[in-house]
Amino acid sequence: MPRSNASHLDVAVLGAGFGGLGMACRLRAEGVRNFRVFDAATGVGGTWWVNRYPGCACDVPAHLYSYSFAPKPDWTRRFAPRAEIQAYLEQVARDRDLDPHLELGCRIERTRWDEGQGLWRLDDVHGRRWTADVVVSALGGLSRPLRPDLPGLDEFAGRILHTQAWPDRLDLAGRRVAVIGTGATAAQVVPEIAPDVEHLDVYQRTPNWILPRPDRPIRPWQRRLYRRVPLLQKLVRFSIWLGSELRVPGLAWSTRLAAGHRALALWHLRRQVPDPELRRDLTPDYAIGCKRVLRSSDYYPALVRDNVDLVTAPIRRVEPDGLRSADGRLRRADTLVLATGFRATAPVPGGLFIGRGGVDLAETWADGPSAWRGVAVHGFPNLFLLMGPNTALGHNSVVLMIEAQIGFVMKALEARRGDVLEVRADAQREDNARLQRRLAGTVWNSGGCSSWYRHPVSGRNATLWPGFTWTYRNRLRGFRPAAFDRRTPAGPQAAK
Ligand code: NAP
Repeated sequence: MPRSNASHLDVAVLGAGFGGLGMACRLRAEGVRNFRVFDAATGVGGTWWVNRYPGCACDVPAHLYSYSFAPKPDWTRRFAPRAEIQAYLEQVARDRDLDPHLELGCRIERTRWDEGQGLWRLDDVHGRRWTADVVVSALGGLSRPLRPDLPGLDEFAGRILHTQAWPDRLDLAGRRVAVIGTGATAAQVVPEIAPDVEHLDVYQRTPNWILPRPDRPIRPWQRRLYRRVPLLQKLVRFSIWLGSELRVPGLAWSTRLAAGHRALALWHLRRQVPDPELRRDLTPDYAIGCKRVLRSSDYYPALVRDNVDLVTAPIRRVEPDGLRSADGRLRRADTLVLATGFRATAPVPGGLFIGRGGVDLAETWADGPSAWRGVAVHGFPNLFLLMGPNTALGHNSVVLMIEAQIGFVMKALEARRGDVLEVRADAQREDNARLQRRLAGTVWNSGGCSSWYRHPVSGRNATLWPGFTWTYRNRLRGFRPAAFDRRTPAGPQAAK
């Protein structure tokens, strides 16, 4: 099919969250005009648009969980609530005039590489067709919800909701609610809904390590100061970054170096949970950091409430009017909240990216995703990933990783000069062998837990970067021509 049947773009960006918007800002700043950012949602914000459960906030301090090129001096709290992050991203999009580039409410259903023409063909949900020289996937690693495989789930007579799909006005007053899961999301939602509901059962399969969350308002005078003295805000950002980087040795080198954090978490538990039996149930038996460490100062107090029970007996099955646990007891519920997380090791749905030779990226990644330095995959020319495999963090702000990746994509666009770039299979293999060697000794792989960091069947850690953010940034400094095959497409691109 000739290219002229479709609208042609220099760059198509999939996803309008931190990754996609950041990419759009850089493209515009460097004079690229013919690009679009597609998102299924009707607004920008990505994860912060989608996740609207009560209590949703970021547990990375806001001064660091924001773009380095778009500081916001007037964050109202140390840990920003969802709505404020959402508003920040909207403001960034407005300030940089991204509107003409946004295709919102527009899910891309299929992205297929056309080797003859040397371009990507995209089909959107409205039946429109696009072509693009380059595709940047900014879909996020945690966007596909995980629905637990529990017997009887479909027979539940009440309401079932995943935290990712929280309805706008949900009144839980007088309800008997069951929350399945005790990860970062549950730790935020449980304290928010506990005072409203009649009764709340929290089903815990594995306890988490929890550190206090030193949240506080940022006073108006502080905000004025940050506005007047931008260097001060930069220093605050730097100190948060440095403090977070200092956690790497305890995670990646030796768990002994995390003894301080472990002691702090145990002190926090002792201080907030007086009942020794409940405390025992809440004490993890694996190394701190193996699963994502939670930050909350109101989760334990919520569990101590009279109307809240922590249920540690495994769930045997879901029945129409409640959950039956392995101890034989039926605990009644009329609302079931699935705080069960995401399909982090299967981040891309089947059929979305069809590469060279008709290969489906989801099938290539059947035993967990892998890429070259998290940004490029052999067999998928001119496709670049943001928050791709092994670029999530257990210790610091992922916005730092995203900005490093965006910088790399810009360098690749410059180096491309109209050609097709495809990462070499051997470069990708060697990169992953080195990565997995480094992961082997880390707490994430050997800390004695199971987590979303590792593929449920292969066990391979396909999500985390095993080190400092600055080492990753260094890896992506400069385009690496030796790692890529270059060819000039036979199609219209060649004439450019
Ligand atoms: P999660 O960490 O994967 O937690 C899912 C929870 O559901 C776990 O407690 C898990 O138990 C439980 N679970 C899953 N399947 C189950 C089953 N069949 N039966 C019983 N329990 C089951 O998901 P999440 O809490 O949504 O968090 C995911 C990630 O999102 C976080 O790690 C974080 O990176 C991000 N997040 C960030 C923030 C933030 O403030 N920045 C907030 C929320 C989320 P097991 O532990 O036993 O597997």
